[in-house]
Amino acid sequence: MYSKTDLNYLSSVTETVAASSPEVAAIINKELERQRDNVCLIASENFTSAAVMAATGSCLTNKYSEGMVGKRYYSGCSVVDEMELFCREKWLEVFGVSETYHVNVQPHSGSQANFTAYTAFLTKGDTVLSMSLANGGHLTHGSPVNNSGKLYNFVHYEVDEEGFIQYDDIAAKLREHNPKLVVAGASSYSRIIDFARIRSIIDEYTAETGNTVFFMADIAHIAGLVVAGVHPTPFGVCDVVTLTTHKTLRGARGGLTFAKKEYAKKIDSAAFPGTQGGPLQHVIAGKAVSAVECLKPEYKTYIENVVANCKVMCDEFIKMGYKVVTGGTDNHLFLVDLTPNNVSGLAVQNELERRGIILNRNCVPGEKRSAYETSGIRIGTAPETTRGFTAEDFVKVAHRIDEAIKDLMAQNN
Ligand code: PLP
Repeated sequence: MYSKTDLNYLSSVTETVAASSPEVAAIINKELERQRDNVCLIASENFTSAAVMAATGSCLTNKYSEGMVGKRYYSGCSVVDEMELFCREKWLEVFGVSETYHVNVQPHSGSQANFTAYTAFLTKGDTVLSMSLANGGHLTHGSPVNNSGKLYNFVHYEVDEEGFIQYDDIAAKLREHNPKLVVAGASSYSRIIDFARIRSIIDEYTAETGNTVFFMADIAHIAGLVVAGVHPTPFGVCDVVTLTTHKTLRGARGGLTFAKKEYAKKIDSAAFPGTQGGPLQHVIAGKAVSAVECLKPEYKTYIENVVANCKVMCDEFIKMGYKVVTGGTDNHLFLVDLTPNNVSGLAVQNELERRGIILNRNCVPGEKRSAYETSGIRIGTAPETTRGFTAEDFVKVAHRIDEAIKDLMAQNN
């Protein structure tokens, strides 16, 4: 996966760290080996380039820059202003929305990006309509254990028995709950999300009632697919779009919040001083490098391969007789429902880790086990496609997973 230059960089990192702390250098090396020696099928992970890592590890970490470009609360910010502006311009270019959207590149993570959006558009106690964690949404989409669920009144639209979003339920819940914000987006949903359809459902409701409803897309998972044009874009139909830069975008770890230009001020003040202090300018540099990488034609090919590999691997599970949630996939991930196999997601996850395959357990629609144990596993093809896995490689891994599940089933009998 790593070129010679990348490997030189990685060893220079550990050498430099070792000069201060051999213990930390040894742990970093161990993690490098773990990453090298295991197959990674975690749908939310990826392998960044050494350039992204180097920018993230740069001297920009030394600079405080509370505030926004041109309006900082610290002096000496002219260079980081240049960086932040460059980063903003590149991400707007990546999504082709320089004329219509503003982007705030300061959110430290996807969760922070979501809170900038909530802080900008909501007040405490407001009602929000989203997909629940159990059905594939994220913790920050109103889970009672997350501040989103504590600060706002989240209600949820449902998926059907097979796991598909029920768009009619969005229309019904709008009328039942009169939310101020609708959130579309998920952490474990393997099908296309029809943002345009949700937009027209909202428009119909607002024309009928005169109520104002904001529409937010959290494309943390599918952002790369949107860039490559293999998933419909939420831009143009959503007021605010949040994402993480470290999943399918393969970039530095962090978040971005895009909003229609008219909401630029609201979003900026929600990031600072609303929810964060000083921006991480070294991470903003890493995000800028990621944006430049996403603009290269190879990136589109990479994402097309991620999706093609995912379909092939998912089909292999179906051929082997597994129950796949929704019966397939349109994106970079799919869920296997292990209920008919009578093994838990947790047991399979642990057994696979022993065999060098790393993936997540996951709830399935109508989950009967606890969220800790779960009845499913989530499989993603983005990280290993980065490392050059072909469709045949993913088929081989599918059979390794099948062997592990069969062994666990045999132990249960
Ligand atoms: N939104 C979605 C849909 C996610 O899947 C995730 C992370 O998995 C997040 C937000 C939060 O991102 P982070 O872990 O960077 O806070």
